[in-house]
Amino acid sequence: MNILELELLPAKEASIKRGHPWVFSGALRAKPTRSGWARLLDHNQRFVALGIAETGSISFKAASFEDVAPGVHLERALTRALSLRNSLGLSESGTNMHRLVFAEGDGLPGLVVDRYGDHLIAQLHSEAWYEMRSELARVLSKITKVENVYFKTRESLHRSDLEEGYALGAQGESVFTENGLRFKVDWETGQKTGFFLDQRESRARLGSRCKGAKVLNVFSYTGGFSVYALAGGAEQVTSVDSSKKAMALAVENAEINGFSQRHQAVVADAFEYLGTLEPGFDRIVLDPPAFAKNRHSTHNASLAYRRINRMAIEAIETGGELFTFSCSQHIDRAMFASIVRAAAIDSGRSIQVLGHFTQPPDHPFDLRHPEGEYLKGLWIKVL
Ligand code: SAH
Repeated sequence: MNILELELLPAKEASIKRGHPWVFSGALRAKPTRSGWARLLDHNQRFVALGIAETGSISFKAASFEDVAPGVHLERALTRALSLRNSLGLSESGTNMHRLVFAEGDGLPGLVVDRYGDHLIAQLHSEAWYEMRSELARVLSKITKVENVYFKTRESLHRSDLEEGYALGAQGESVFTENGLRFKVDWETGQKTGFFLDQRESRARLGSRCKGAKVLNVFSYTGGFSVYALAGGAEQVTSVDSSKKAMALAVENAEINGFSQRHQAVVADAFEYLGTLEPGFDRIVLDPPAFAKNRHSTHNASLAYRRINRMAIEAIETGGELFTFSCSQHIDRAMFASIVRAAAIDSGRSIQVLGHFTQPPDHPFDLRHPEGEYLKGLWIKVL
């Protein structure tokens, strides 16, 4: 492997030396001209970090502050990632799907690996990983003893010409469990790696609050929150999503758990649907996609979050509860709270915050890299 060398400008060394893993192009003597593993040096040519170079505005993402070969770092980081997941006791609670590698949070920037039973689904966000995909598949399988490794590349790398599919093995089962509930997952045509594993704990909280409730799950995808609400004894659950394919799986997921009769599926645009909604729900879940894809879109994203939250609050019965989320990296927890506050003011209703949601421990992040904390949610009672 040909390892690049990048050199920091003298005035731009403080941030990475304090442990923030990103280096922007303006901090380097020369920008990298290709993606690949790189050693980052200070202006005295001393080693600072090993990481991945990119041609975009973030030119370097640190993987390790130890001067080791990429292959050595990969094995160490994967071993550590696996040991964390094994310590979480997920299988004891009836869960056989989780995130094994969460990019910077596990010292492997540009790499996300989710485990579904005997399958690993790796989503590559850097061409550096694509270039070494055979070695990556081999090491992943060696360390985890999982024999089926699938790569998702085209959407995350924005290139339709890349190879995507099984690097090792083939598909076995397609139904997996989370807290004892069953979900069919389709990583080949589904969004991201097929299932939103980061909502496991929030879904369990919703489930515990649904006895006899009339529940609306907006941006339902394949019905994660809906199935928990049904298992928790909801009287009626309506799932709403604009994706027909996701909704077909939501219907199937309600069915394989034995809840079809209490589940209603609606394929619709959430903004239009909420705009014409009759009030009367006891629980509403709002889990939209990231509206703010970058810093420039935070203003418009805030308005969109405010609007859906206002419409949801208006549709909730007195004493009902809202479970509202944002997974936009560019909208932090405080900003999200102020958006929901504005929505409550717009609706004229009083609200109580009963709790906060965040990503579960199989999505760890380093506090020196606050961007790694992307998922935030509020559990709200509407008075
Ligand atoms: N809550 C889900 C994950 C939601 S992901 C879970 O627990 O699995 C966001 C979802 O929003 C996706 O399924 C996407 O299809 C849907 N979506 C995006 N824009 C939408 C819109 N305007 N109206 C309705 N659904 C939308």
